[in-house]
Amino acid sequence: MLIDSHCHLNYKGLIEDQANVLDRARARGIDLMLNIATRESEWDSVLDTAVREADVWATVGIHPHEADEHPHVDTAKLVQRAAHPRVVGIGETGLDYYYDHSDRERQQKSFRSHIAACRETGLPLIVHTREAEEDTLAIMRDEMEKGPYSGVIHCFTASGAFADAAMDLGFYISISGIVTFKSAKDLQETAARLPIDRLLVETDSPFLAPVPHRGKSCEPAFVADTAQFLANLRGESVEALAAATSANFRTLFAKVA
Ligand SMILES: [Zn+2]
Ligand SMILES: [Zn+2]
Repeated sequence: MLIDSHCHLNYKGLIEDQANVLDRARARGIDLMLNIATRESEWDSVLDTAVREADVWATVGIHPHEADEHPHVDTAKLVQRAAHPRVVGIGETGLDYYYDHSDRERQQKSFRSHIAACRETGLPLIVHTREAEEDTLAIMRDEMEKGPYSGVIHCFTASGAFADAAMDLGFYISISGIVTFKSAKDLQETAARLPIDRLLVETDSPFLAPVPHRGKSCEPAFVADTAQFLANLRGESVEALAAATSANFRTLFAKVA
């Protein structure tokens, strides 16, 4: 059994065929999927899927790309939404200086209000970070001093030093299909040495289909291919990796009972 810790079931590419997408995932042993929110207009549909499907859970959050469009989404709004029994995490949030789709200061402010929501609710944070390692860590550390919270670095592609620093703060590291790409040598090196009790796996579908599905729309079933690749890379059985990543997920996302 495997868990896809990060997918977007309500995005174009998956929503049109959602029932079959879910069935194909179940057929490959994916027994839980975390459906990630990125903007306020999709919160209802993300949550509806989780209410309807017993093996799908939801988050509430604003993607860093969307920070400019959501100045009104503050900690109180996130906390209120997070009270729903099917909402088990806060995010995705973070900093993306690669695309810079939103003003950097707005991204930072939004990131901090998500962390505050984690402290208030006890729910874990889902962090997106791209070309922004230094500021991401600075904010995570600064906010940790105000009070503890936990979380995961999703779709991890950062440096090994960043992984170590995030784990020092108690964070988990989630590996996506990018690890299967030939060009991802640095990521493979880091993923091979991460402690197994800190690892999660994800698809970030409909994006980033792993080998051997490159070029197709990604879907949660493919987390099985990423897990197999990662297990080979680490010299572990896929069963051991699946058991560990599922246990880690349930420890972090403890509201999934
Ligand atoms: Zn992301
Ligand atoms: Zn995502």
